Amino acid sequence: MSHTAIAGAPFVAYRQNDLYLEDVKLSDLARTHGTPLFVYSKAAMLSALAAYQRGFAGRKAQICYAMKANSSLAILQVFAQAGCGFDIVSGGELSRALAAGADAKKIIFSGVGKTRAEMKQALQAGIGCFNVESEAELDVLHEVATRLGVQAPVSLRVNPNVDPKTHPYISTGLKGNKFGVAHERALVVYQHAARLSGLKVVGIDCHIGSQITETTPYLDAMDRILDLVTEIEKTGIHIHHIDFGGGLGINYNGDTPPPADALWAQLLAKLDARGYGQRQLMIEPGRSLVGNAGVCLTEVIYTKPGEQKNFCIVDAAMNDLPRPAMYEAFHQIVAVQPRAGSALTYDVVGPICESGDWLGRDRLLNVQSGDMLAVLSAGAYCMSMSSNYNTRGRPAEVLVDGAQVHLIRQRESAFDTFALESLV
Ligand SMILES: *Cc1c(COP(=O)(O)O)cnc(C)c1O
Repeated sequence: MSHTAIAGAPFVAYRQNDLYLEDVKLSDLARTHGTPLFVYSKAAMLSALAAYQRGFAGRKAQICYAMKANSSLAILQVFAQAGCGFDIVSGGELSRALAAGADAKKIIFSGVGKTRAEMKQALQAGIGCFNVESEAELDVLHEVATRLGVQAPVSLRVNPNVDPKTHPYISTGLKGNKFGVAHERALVVYQHAARLSGLKVVGIDCHIGSQITETTPYLDAMDRILDLVTEIEKTGIHIHHIDFGGGLGINYNGDTPPPADALWAQLLAKLDARGYGQRQLMIEPGRSLVGNAGVCLTEVIYTKPGEQKNFCIVDAAMNDLPRPAMYEAFHQIVAVQPRAGSALTYDVVGPICESGDWLGRDRLLNVQSGDMLAVLSAGAYCMSMSSNYNTRGRPAEVLVDGAQVHLIRQRESAFDTFALESLV
């Protein structure tokens, strides 16, 4: 079992009988830092980013990491140092990005419910662009900017009405979604924006969904957006940048999304054919930059054989890693130090008092209490969605760089979880 690679987890591999992330033995990390523990590979993140950078070689392109996927400061620092900007969705994310060393001019602000206070904070920080999602938001932003005596750079998020063929909870570009301005309304709304003195139209954007594994929805959305750019520019409004959002999927369970560079080779060919290849381009990838870079280590507390099901009860739960409970999402689960011998089929579940608290169903495992498991592809939308439900402190996080180990977040204590509360 020497150097056995694992599909979908490029920097995770067995050496002899031990699971490693880069050059770090995961059983050592679990012993030192306890479990549940999130561990991320810096090389995996930079390699995912490099695929986009290769795809955009020779173009004017800005990659804005959609930080809601994983907003831990040290993760943001890795991307900021690699030249990324950030796609934020709240004032809190703005504060985080700036604390991690982000360049404010490379920050774009998405989201359907930006408040006046958030707009003011972002204008004072001098962010690069507001991705505006409604006509009401345009008017409020104009008002806030005018009061501050500045002009807000804006792009309209257009809903291209393209089906990304992904889970309904993460489809965002269809007519029935709450996101963006309808394609049919876009021209009128652009003309309205151009008349507001507190705003400066700088771009157009779209984001059609998440965990997209096909190229066609992107090509279709691009056609729809370019049609609009042509129409808008005919009215004398210049669209400086075109932002194609994020959404590229990763391999969780044999999924085969196109590599970022291959996807962009096709998209750029279309842009070139339509005469837009030299425009300033922007993208907002989240999951595809961090998803496969992380694992969650968890200890088996009990095994519980049953008449219909066997349960493997672990110390990680839906509060730490909510994707299975929330979307019935699949994460591979493997032993950190596999045992020889025969395996049983288990549902891997957490200790939380909810039947939805599971991490994996019908998994073939040979485990005993005290064993360590690794939940793979846990870099995106896991820790950033974690909570304190059941008064569980959130896990610690570790960043691995070659053989180096950095503790980037301490484990929360029970006291931390109620530190802001008071008795009456
Ligand atoms: C969540 C989000 C992204 C990132 O999506 P991924 O699927 O993680 O790449 C990009 N843009 C917007 C507006 C988003 O809401």
